[in-house]
Amino acid sequence: MTQTNTIAMEDLVSLCKRRGFIFPASEVYGGLNGFWDYGPLGTLLKNNLRDAWWRDMVLSPPDGPDGRPISVVGLDSSIIQNPRVWEASGHVEGFNDPMVDCKKSKSRYRADQLFCIGLKGDKEGRVYAFLEADAESRASALKKLGKEKKRTVEDEEVDVCSFMDLSEAERNLTVGPDAKEAGTLTEPRDFNLMFETFVGAIRSDDNRAFLRPETAQGIFLNFNNVVDTMRVKVPFGIAQIGKAFRNEVTPRNYIFRSREFEQMEIEWFCHEAESEKWFDFWCQVRRNWWESIGLTSDNVKMRRHDANELAHYAKDGCGTFDVEYQFPFTAPGFGELEGVAHRGNYDLRRHEEFSRKKLSYFDQERNERFLPHVIEPSAGLSRGTLAVLCEAFTPDPDRASKVYMKFHPRLAPIKAAVFPLVNKDGMPEVAERLFDELRTRWNVQYDAKQSIGKRYARMDEAGCPYCFTIDSDSLNDQSATVRHRDSQDQERVALDQVSTWLSERIESV
Ligand code: ATP
Repeated sequence: MTQTNTIAMEDLVSLCKRRGFIFPASEVYGGLNGFWDYGPLGTLLKNNLRDAWWRDMVLSPPDGPDGRPISVVGLDSSIIQNPRVWEASGHVEGFNDPMVDCKKSKSRYRADQLFCIGLKGDKEGRVYAFLEADAESRASALKKLGKEKKRTVEDEEVDVCSFMDLSEAERNLTVGPDAKEAGTLTEPRDFNLMFETFVGAIRSDDNRAFLRPETAQGIFLNFNNVVDTMRVKVPFGIAQIGKAFRNEVTPRNYIFRSREFEQMEIEWFCHEAESEKWFDFWCQVRRNWWESIGLTSDNVKMRRHDANELAHYAKDGCGTFDVEYQFPFTAPGFGELEGVAHRGNYDLRRHEEFSRKKLSYFDQERNERFLPHVIEPSAGLSRGTLAVLCEAFTPDPDRASKVYMKFHPRLAPIKAAVFPLVNKDGMPEVAERLFDELRTRWNVQYDAKQSIGKRYARMDEAGCPYCFTIDSDSLNDQSATVRHRDSQDQERVALDQVSTWLSERIESV
């Protein structure tokens, strides 16, 4: 089993709090469910992930299936758009989750994430509901069923079925995850996930607007603008990174499902005849990318959506592949990190219909006018940051810090640290000179306080890959000792070579 399966989320959450990666939003007021703030190290980590995606997908994307360079351009569109956009996109009508309330505990659940056990197990015919991908809730349902000795549903010979598939009579016999008796759960009701607001001084229906639930629509709206200004030719992509908002029924699992989050999306416009080829290309590219930034292949997998999961825009017969990651709270299962969807020409067609503006493209080589088909790799930047944090978290009882964050050097918030061994005898001056040189290129920290062991421990928790120490020998031989985070090996590097040495290790990997 890999490390990720066994790490305790509370340990990761506590490290993230202690070391300034992630804080609850409005913490001094008791927080706000589903909202999070990124601290100094979390901001650097998230920005590094964002920048790696932008570099690898927009500035220098991989060559296409025919070995020729492809073209992707960037965009930064408004969070609030004309409300008609969301009618055209299908979100006003279809962006709903089925919601179930518990009348007794006042908890609220997503019906499609409620699963039940005990259909045959309980003498009184009671059924026990638990939350999908939540080991604690599963264990508690098993306990209520009287099978607490077994650890997971997977170990058990118990029947599991979705709450959505139960008859009304069976639902009335269901004990909710936070209830003691049966019959407290309501029937599922549709709940629209878009946050509403009003534009201008008057709070009337005419002024109602929405915070975007995805960044994608801003791209479709600007399709003509980009074609007219950028000399791009289909096939090409438009990429955007930005905030999205969803009034999730049950935000949970830390930043995995929050109400405000960031997405990194590409809409790849192509001819219908070539769309399957591009769909395969993007599935492969995106899976490889997550591995390239440090998620191990065991923890990443591709999963095709079942027919009943397909979104309203998914093209018949092609559908959606998810890139999934094995999060500690989903293990041994996986959770979605990114969806790669074949959207057909749904969005451009709907915006043509609703706006009555032409959004078709004239292809001079084919001498044909058509509405491009779209392949959409849509990744979560916030969820990706969580995957990176989970993957990096490495317990090590033999270290002073007991745990270190094994970030890929490209993503590490602090790239290097510089320490004078003692804060005297000319060492601080040499160390400061090295620090001043390195900080012009990277985020580097200087630390002269406490013992060297404590300083290493702090950097291990922050995931800093290299620590340079200036000792008494440095004054004679003009070199520093570099200590490697993962192996804890040490070697000497000449002071005038440190910059090159570092750039080879953190930039060309
Ligand atoms: P889910 O099934 O988990 O609700 P989804 O299929 O609705 O997700 P998409 O609409 O495909 O998600 O969004 C693309 C990506 O945006 C997801 O793969 C995920 O990384 C991210 N994402 C979506 N909703 C949230 C959220 N509430 N919090 C954090 N990230 C999210």
